[in-house]
Amino acid sequence: MNPFAYHTPETEQEALTLLHEHGDEAKLMAGGTALVIMMKQRLVLPETLISLHRLRGLSDVQEVNGTVHLGALLTHRAAETSPLLRQRLPVLAETYRHVATLRIRNVATVGGALAHADPNQDPPVTLLALDARVQLTSVAGSREVPLESFFTDYYETVLRPDELLTAIRMPIPAPHTGSAHIKFLPRTADDYATVGVAATVRLDPATGVCQDCRIALGSVGSTPLRAPQAEGVVRGQRLTPELLREAGAAAQQQTDPISDTRGSADYKRAMAGVFVRRALEQAWQQALQQTT
Ligand SMILES: Cc1cc2nc3c(=O)[nH]c(=O)nc-3n(C[C@H](O)[C@H](O)[C@H](O)COP(=O)(O)OP(=O)(O)OC[C@H]3O[C@@H](n4cnc5c(N)ncnc54)[C@H](O)[C@@H]3O)c2cc1C
Repeated sequence: MNPFAYHTPETEQEALTLLHEHGDEAKLMAGGTALVIMMKQRLVLPETLISLHRLRGLSDVQEVNGTVHLGALLTHRAAETSPLLRQRLPVLAETYRHVATLRIRNVATVGGALAHADPNQDPPVTLLALDARVQLTSVAGSREVPLESFFTDYYETVLRPDELLTAIRMPIPAPHTGSAHIKFLPRTADDYATVGVAATVRLDPATGVCQDCRIALGSVGSTPLRAPQAEGVVRGQRLTPELLREAGAAAQQQTDPISDTRGSADYKRAMAGVFVRRALEQAWQQALQQTT
């Protein structure tokens, strides 16, 4: 590692001022689980490191006007065990519960996971399916960005050098909505997925017809992906095996995986179709249970 100046701001304002002063030369560190590895590998060589570990606040979970708010510094473990999250968005609490190992979840933060923008991560997939937005703050003020427009490429986002990701917000799903996140882990349970899929399905309770659906995939492109064509196949329809197959095939068309140690590009594309079918069916069955 190169020598660097080290700051430990205690308030959001102090952190923002430091970011404003150091801009491109600085790096934020939240849990440090990704950043420290990148620094050791000399992929990132900041002149200034701004650690957020002393910062008070930004680690709350709240329900406000039908929306769940997560502070960016909430750890994965705190998210996984939050009673509010387990009650309101159990699919998200479960997604955090299945990330890596307990040691990593104890320190990795929900904001750090998004800012890191590795397309193999799990939470971004579920957050996309839940229609999440992120709040990005600088000394000049805050802006809110749909998660769908946040990721731009491998490890790249719309975050500007002077911005701190401060919060994640998502609506509480409407009644008769089912949701699922599943991932394919052919090696070990704490590995990154070969493919991960999240789906939400909202049904008309009288007819069982799908009124709305969101499907998101991880590990099969340069960013986590939405699958709008597959969603279009499902909306307005009833659950049948043919429909699931058609949706899986449509989602597959939208993937662009790379070959690596977790599978060839062709294999990942095929698994994306299979896992979209399974996640959709799981979400649909959960929604159906709410209509009886
Ligand atoms: C061995 C291992 C296995 C893992 N497996 C998985 C897995 O299977 N699935 C999964 O989803 N995750 C997995 N993870 C976790 C994941 O890859 C990241 O390490 C983690 O989510 C990063 O969170 P952090 O708080 O530690 O971020 P940090 O390492 O502190 O930061 C990561 C990046 O985000 C920036 N940053 C951090 N916080 C903010 C903020 N609030 N605003 C703006 N920028 C910010 C930093 O500057 C840095 O560029 C694994 C990690 C490890 C080490």
